[in-house]
Amino acid sequence: MMYDVIIVGGGPAGFSAALYSARSNLKTLLIERFFAGGQMSTTEVMENYPGFEEPINGIELAVRMENQAKKFGTEVISEEVVELDLNDEIKIVKTTNGEYRCKTVILGMGGSPRKLGLPSENNLMGRGISYCATCDGSFYRDMDVAIIGGGDTAVEDANYLSRLCNKVYLVHRRDELRATKTLQDDVFKNHKVEIVWDSVPESINGDMSVKSINVKNKKTGDVRALEVSGIFVAIGSNPNTELIKDKLRMSQSGYIVTGEDMQTSIAGVFACGDIRDKLLRQVVTAAADGAIAAYAAEKYIGRN
Ligand code: NAP
Repeated sequence: MMYDVIIVGGGPAGFSAALYSARSNLKTLLIERFFAGGQMSTTEVMENYPGFEEPINGIELAVRMENQAKKFGTEVISEEVVELDLNDEIKIVKTTNGEYRCKTVILGMGGSPRKLGLPSENNLMGRGISYCATCDGSFYRDMDVAIIGGGDTAVEDANYLSRLCNKVYLVHRRDELRATKTLQDDVFKNHKVEIVWDSVPESINGDMSVKSINVKNKKTGDVRALEVSGIFVAIGSNPNTELIKDKLRMSQSGYIVTGEDMQTSIAGVFACGDIRDKLLRQVVTAAADGAIAAYAAEKYIGRN
């Protein structure tokens, strides 16, 4: 069986590519290792995806995207891709279950949460340390928690967790937040959130579960122990590029370099969404990338 397009990754970029590809009558397979949505499915409320006046939940939007892509003929399978042979005209996508052949590949593997790199982090992961507030927040109902980071994710998490938890510390390494202004306005008004400015985590304490976190003020050198049961790390993400290391042209910071048509350094291989070197990583820009990648794949197939 030969596919026209195989899409690796089932986030908004991948499903948008699948929708456009299937609607162009291309035989389309989307491979996702877990479930639909990627990082989007860890977002409780999305206020900035066009068309939804009332915020939509990330998982719900992901399911809708998957259903829409399937409705137009996309085949979706849940398997882990382990190897990509991209150089020949016929590309081969190997998974834990078998091999799939195709004319074009669209890479939309997104990113994974960045870690703090502290010694106790791996030990206490899942025992007080989490990388997803919407997944794990309810375990910390009425408790004190800390969030690390100052971007959209961290500030959104702070607003979300303040509705469940007793007290929320937002630990940020600078004296101003990176997050969007509207999110900042909400968090500044939120009496349950204390922002710990200019501070970085130094150690996480606890044997079987998190008991506290020591944070160091970068300006004064003072170390403060925050007694918390939960720590939510929201310091950005790294692109999931393990499968294509040394195979494609990458930016210095490790993202796939593409043209405006999402074409990578290999003909017939396209990249879209958060894995791509770009200015703005949002659901809406991921979806736009996916549409362009599918359109460019169609043109490529037509030419060849
Ligand atoms: P981000 O924008 O990269 O922000 C990461 C934050 O963590 C920054 O405040 C950064 O500090 C801090 N940080 C980075 N490394 C750190 C370290 N080692 N120790 C301590 N702090 C560290 O990541 P994000 O918030 O996950 O957002 C990722 C993308 O998704 C962004 O484009 C964002 O706009 C988007 N997003 C959008 C929404 C939404 O629109 N609703 C929601 C979530 C995410 P500095 O500020 O000092 O660099």
